[in-house]
Amino acid sequence: MSPERGGRGEERTGRAGSQGMVALKKVTELPRWQDTPPGGILVDAGNAVEYHTGAWRTKRPIWHPDRCTSCMICWMFCPDMAIEVKNRKMQGIDRDHCKGCGICANECPTEALTMEPGGQYESAHR
Ligand code: SF4
Ligand code: SF4
Repeated sequence: MSPERGGRGEERTGRAGSQGMVALKKVTELPRWQDTPPGGILVDAGNAVEYHTGAWRTKRPIWHPDRCTSCMICWMFCPDMAIEVKNRKMQGIDRDHCKGCGICANECPTEALTMEPGGQYESAHR
């Protein structure tokens, strides 16, 4: 799998369970997190990208580019493929899908990611 993601609001490609790489809808057309199966049951592995699930977090990761070495450790550890990468360089956080778990900030060796309060969806601040 290549560390490449489409930008926010763009047509994307992503894994969709057993269907392989498929073109996914614009995030504004995705089902909301409230539309996920009851009990959070995963009926298809790797399907988080098919939902607009970023709205349920209580904390958000803040990226500090001046400290970032683009080592991609956060990309490897993020369980929701929410680290945006282009040309092997860290670009920011996909807040449409970031759940605010804090794993990226915990694993970042240079403290280029910190967790801050305020989890609501922000379209203007990455
Ligand atoms: S783990 Fe930290 S230094 Fe490495 S790419 Fe992510 S934010 Fe940058
Ligand atoms: S807080 Fe969790 S879901 Fe969000 S980018 Fe970091 S590792 Fe991924």
